[in-house]
Amino acid sequence: MAKRDFPIEVTAPDIAPYRAGNTGIDYVTTFDSDRPGPHAMINAVTHGNEICGAIALDHLFRHDIRPVRGKLTLAFVNHAAYRRFDPARPRDNRRIDQDINRVWADDILDGPGDTLELRRARELRPLVETVDYLLDIHSLGTNCPALLLCTGQPKETALARAIGFPAHVILGRKRRSRKRMIDYGPFADPATPRTGLLVECGQHWARQTAVNALDTALRFLRGLDIIDQATLARHVSDRLPVPQRTLRITGAVELQSHDFAFRDEFHGLEHFPRAGTVIARDGDADIVTPHDDCILVMPNARAKKGMRAVRFARLVG
Ligand SMILES: [Zn+2]
Repeated sequence: MAKRDFPIEVTAPDIAPYRAGNTGIDYVTTFDSDRPGPHAMINAVTHGNEICGAIALDHLFRHDIRPVRGKLTLAFVNHAAYRRFDPARPRDNRRIDQDINRVWADDILDGPGDTLELRRARELRPLVETVDYLLDIHSLGTNCPALLLCTGQPKETALARAIGFPAHVILGRKRRSRKRMIDYGPFADPATPRTGLLVECGQHWARQTAVNALDTALRFLRGLDIIDQATLARHVSDRLPVPQRTLRITGAVELQSHDFAFRDEFHGLEHFPRAGTVIARDGDADIVTPHDDCILVMPNARAKKGMRAVRFARLVG
């Protein structure tokens, strides 16, 4: 049975005006306030079909939102994949050769691999080395509320609280392989204050997802005191703070077969009070909730053998 897909409610902005930038790296612009302060970076289109971030950065550029202290870098990470976005086939341009958000380890960046995404990561790397605070904007395949993802370090939860948005903060685990940019060197090192967060703003092409992307970007900059309160108030969709809930990842399901199906249409954040509740079938095996008060995070009904189909979490705050 063909899986139902979601409508495209947003238009992918033309990012050609941002190609030249001012950093010597295509599609990367740094605004310097010439005042002391941190270097913040906001990334869009790390995955080419996740266009909410491009809409958010386009807004920041067009409305002259600039740092009042420190520096602000705006980057269209996988611009080559993004520029292939086709509303008729909106899932086909997540990447070109490989996922650029799985290569952020020194041995891979320094290794022999030669893909479009590796070349781009190597081009960005010297700049990333200078970043104090990173916000990497993404979106999801399901109709899920926005999620702020981190590796579970105290410096990350402190920044998440300073941002105060979105409502759900997901504490993951430190990765040993397939590293994302937020897992890269200093961001993963608890001895430095440098911090990376990843936001999943909602379903890839929903109107609200682009609103969430801009709201997160603005609140990130306000949380770091890089924009003032008046700028935030002018551009944010809702000035009221949201109560935040924190969830800790407790496990994940990697598919063992090519024959996988969830028991229901899950979008993420579904709550199951009892351990042992069947949520999916993988080949001949039931997949059950591993503990009481289990919450599903980022279910992927399109996952294939060897891929992660869902994560489990519990509420911790
Ligand atoms: Zn993504």
